[in-house]
Parts: sequence; C-alpha cells; structure tokens
Amino acid sequence: MAALNLITFADAAGSRAGVLLSGGRVLDLAVAMPPARDMLAVIDGRAPMLAAIRALAANPPANALLALANVALQAPIPKPRRNVFCVGRNYMDHVAEGDRTRGITQSEVPKYPQFFTKAADCVIAPGANVPTHEGVTKWLDYEVELVAIIGTAGRDIPKEKALEHVYGWTIGNDVTGRDLQRRHGQWFKGKSLDRSCPLGPVIVPASDLNAADLAIGLKLNGEQRQASRTSKMIFDVTEIIHQLSSGFTLLPGDVIMTGTPEGVGYAMQPPQTMKAGDVMELTIEGIGTLTNTISD
Ligand code: MN
Repeated sequence: MAALNLITFADAAGSRAGVLLSGGRVLDLAVAMPPARDMLAVIDGRAPMLAAIRALAANPPANALLALANVALQAPIPKPRRNVFCVGRNYMDHVAEGDRTRGITQSEVPKYPQFFTKAADCVIAPGANVPTHEGVTKWLDYEVELVAIIGTAGRDIPKEKALEHVYGWTIGNDVTGRDLQRRHGQWFKGKSLDRSCPLGPVIVPASDLNAADLAIGLKLNGEQRQASRTSKMIFDVTEIIHQLSSGFTLLPGDVIMTGTPEGVGYAMQPPQTMKAGDVMELTIEGIGTLTNTISD
C-alpha cells in the first residue's frame, strides 16, 4: 500500500485539503468529502476520517480530480493554531559544530531538550520565497528538520504512548538569522523572521511511515550541505513529546520541529550565509522534497 500524501492546495476557488495522487493528480477533498475542507478539519477528524480519505484516494471520483499543474501547493497547515514548537541542539554532530564556533572542543550531550518557538505566521508554502531580510540580518541560515504534527490532544504523555499522539510527518526549514539568535539571548527573534518557516510538501500519516530512522538532508544550490539520519537525534520524537507535554497540553494540529543535523552554514569554515537566488532543497526519505528560494 502506497503511503498517503495529504496536501493543502489553492486555486481560484480558494484553499482546501487534498491528496496528492500518482500521475500528477490531486483529489479535491472539499468536493469529495466536504467535512475534510482543510487540513485542520482533516486532523480533527482523526482515524475515521483518515480511513475515509484513504478509501477515496484508492478509488477517486472523477469530479473531484484536478491536475497538480493547475493548483498551487500551500504549506500542509498554512496557518497553525499556535506557535511552531522547536527543539534546538538535537543532533550531537550539530551540537559539536556549534560548540566549535565558540572554541569549545569537548561537547557535552544536552541533558534536556532545548525548546523554543517560531511565530505561527512565519509558515510559508513549498516553492514560496524566503526574503533576504537585508538590513535586519547579515547571517541567514537554513536547517532541515523532521516535523511531527500532533493529532490527539494530551498532557503528561508517557514516552511509550507518544507516537499515538502523532498524526503525521512533514519537512520543515528552520530558517534563522544567526546574528539575531545570538544578539537577543532568547532565540525567538532570530527564529521568527517573516516567511522563515517553509513547511511541506505533504503530510504522511504516522500510520504510513516509521520516522525513527530516515535519511534527512539539505542541498544548497545543488551542493549537499546536510546529510544524516533521524535516528541520530539526541532526544527522539517520543522523548520530545514526553517532555514538551509535561504540564503543557499539546493540541491537534500542533507543529513540532525536531532539530537539525550538522552542516549548517554558520559552522562551516569559513562561515557561510545565504543570498538572493540561493535554492534550498530539503529531503526526508518517505516524505519528499521541500524547495524554497531566497528572494525579496
Ligand atoms: Mn532548528
């Protein structure tokens, strides 16, 4: 059974949820199943709605089929209900490369996940431009990350139950103004520039993909900059959900970015930033490729 690829797309009739099918076809869920009008409604519909969508995707009604070429992909959740939750320093080789920029040669494994957020308004679509933010930051950087989408609310979630709360997986680019990240102490400012959170291209349901050990990588202008595996996380998804939900209720549709592996621009010798025209291609095995260009 092929994995389901849930998308949000738009055309002249507006934005709605769909399924990306083989042959460049899109199943329009607003036509095929009106209660599944947008991705948050799909997520809120939980397993029964997902089963109904799966049945429609296997036998799509002709009147609900569109050509991908005639629609615009949007972020799978174009407007998250809350800030995007993030984990910093979650791959040891990335911790070490960051420490090296500060003259630290013996890195310590973090004892707890380092949580921060990006403003929900920062989310943009696959293919959309990320501004240079010239005059605001001199040091724009990329970060490929596995993203968990929460499907079922929960608080104080034990590790062994954590994956039951995950609706699905997508790809996120935690675009960062490094100078702002450092200058302001708290990371929020450097992590929440407008249009700094590309998401997509699809959500693959958790029932269709085991995300524990997937190839994860990023190319900048065709050059491989990041290449790792999700199994190298210091705190895996179950530990992240366990600790984030401690005394804090996670809600359906919450977006959790799980950290980036080594190979970011600021840790290169010499350090690298991005400029107008740069193309970022982020790939995670089983999910796809998320491409965005730096452009004002
Ligand atoms: Mn990050």
